[in-house]
Amino acid sequence: MNFELINRYFPDLTSHQVKQFTQLGALYPEWNSKINVISRKDIENLYERHILHSLGIAKVIHFRSGTKILDAGTGGGFPGIPLAIFFPNAHFHLVDSTAKKLAVVEAISRETGLKNISTGHCRFEDHQGKYDFIVSRAVASLDIMFSRLKKNINSIGVHHLPNGLLYLKGGDFSEELKQMSNYKIYKLSDYFGESFFETKSVVHLF
Ligand code: SAH
Repeated sequence: MNFELINRYFPDLTSHQVKQFTQLGALYPEWNSKINVISRKDIENLYERHILHSLGIAKVIHFRSGTKILDAGTGGGFPGIPLAIFFPNAHFHLVDSTAKKLAVVEAISRETGLKNISTGHCRFEDHQGKYDFIVSRAVASLDIMFSRLKKNINSIGVHHLPNGLLYLKGGDFSEELKQMSNYKIYKLSDYFGESFFETKSVVHLF
């Protein structure tokens, strides 16, 4: 599977974006062999399970120019890097508590010429910045993520969705939402036909 998969669901990419998404196909395997950010056997699924999955958030919301977004627990840059390529006029701050993973983010961001990414080596509980949206995948349960990150969400929003947390989630997560009142679930199978997405959602908590 390669870049064509991205083009199938996002046909209006600029030639610059096409170049950047294509570059990821070489850069991730190269960096992953030095610093593990994707499981070794999953690297062959890079475009479907990491890049397209990250772009699921772009099916749910169109970040306006100037939007500030935090990727909490970005690891090797998911979902932050694919989203930063897709939304070049929004700004993404990618944080992780493991410095060596951020080295991969910084290298890939430099080599693809991304200008709208900054990184921070910290635990997001201790991070004080304010953002319009927080994006995240595979870090902690929804209730824990929201309770620890709501301090970072700007109260005034300008998008059709309220400012909040957009979390990429798989499997059954109903328990994690029991105490939550303001959320909406977007099934990625409504947008993407691959069987991988049958159990995947974007959960918007606000
Ligand atoms: N979001 C990436 C990485 C998931 S692995 C992806 O989907 O591929 C979880 C990541 O969260 C790890 O890189 C870990 O270092 C980071 N992490 C876990 N708890 C964290 C915290 N409290 N603050 C910052 N990063 C955290």
